[in-house]
Amino acid sequence: MTTRTTFLGLGAMGSELAAAALDAGRPSVVWNRTPDRAAALGERGAIVARTVDRAITGDGPIILCLLDHQSVHAVIDPVATSLAGRIMINLTTTTPGQARELAAWATEHGVTYLNGAIMAVPEMIGRPGAVIFYSGAESAFEENRKLLDLWGQSDYFGTDPGMASLRDMAMLVGMYTMFAGFLHGAAMVGVEGVSATEFARRQTPFLAAMTGQLAGLAAAVDAEDYAGAGQQSLEFTEAALASLVTASLEAGVQVDVLRPVHDIVRRQIAAGHGRQGTARIFEELRNAR
Ligand code: NDP
Repeated sequence: MTTRTTFLGLGAMGSELAAAALDAGRPSVVWNRTPDRAAALGERGAIVARTVDRAITGDGPIILCLLDHQSVHAVIDPVATSLAGRIMINLTTTTPGQARELAAWATEHGVTYLNGAIMAVPEMIGRPGAVIFYSGAESAFEENRKLLDLWGQSDYFGTDPGMASLRDMAMLVGMYTMFAGFLHGAAMVGVEGVSATEFARRQTPFLAAMTGQLAGLAAAVDAEDYAGAGQQSLEFTEAALASLVTASLEAGVQVDVLRPVHDIVRRQIAAGHGRQGTARIFEELRNAR
């Protein structure tokens, strides 16, 4: 029996993963719900399977890269009994809870499960800068290391299958709130006819420079020391945010992105922490449960 790698899901990301495997000379079988999307990979040497059943014949790892948790079940549930004894590496974005549910499903069906979270866009796959987080079965991670390393840097976070997803989601919070903040600023200068493109040219290096502040915030959080020297106080931050809110409203720009941050800072000040560092926002956020 030939050890072939199976790829289920050939969207923008799944196609890149399969292409990298083919380029490295790995025999691969590919399947996609909409068959047209498999044609290009077929031309590059992949075996194109018409059904999931056919795609999973063999004994190689099964790579899933589908839209979401629900689509993973839509694909694997009907073939559950054929998957016993196989390694499933799921690179579909999931929450930690969904990753754990899939791992439990896998255990129930005799499948070894590794969960992955891709910290890259499709065009980065196989190129410097691409990172993929993994957690779950260590044996699956180690045995398939050569394959995984074709796609990017492979970081393993232990046997709890939810850990890769947790780190993924935490990273994306930073990304999406940054995007929203950028668009808010673009709306402000846009009122005066400044293009978003011009604004991005100035915002990009500024934000890159500001990431230098993260280490200081992290040090305060880890030490639970918000009174240390050099920290920007909550009172200072509140005054800055109040100006940003006022300037936004003057420009006719909604403050839905900004307001929650301002509110958190004000609550911390109301609780008597105004002279402490702005990293105290962490204390307010972590008490949601
Ligand atoms: P696409 O929208 O390009 O592809 C989605 C894939 O899921 C297609 O193959 C689609 O099949 C399939 N699919 C959706 N619903 C079902 C279903 N019910 N049954 C069977 N197949 C289904 O998304 P991407 O390839 O970009 O993303 C795939 C995963 O990778 C996602 O979880 C995404 O979060 C993750 N990811 C993507 C990144 C990106 O920048 N694109 C970055 C990091 C992670 P069909 O072609 O038939 O519609």
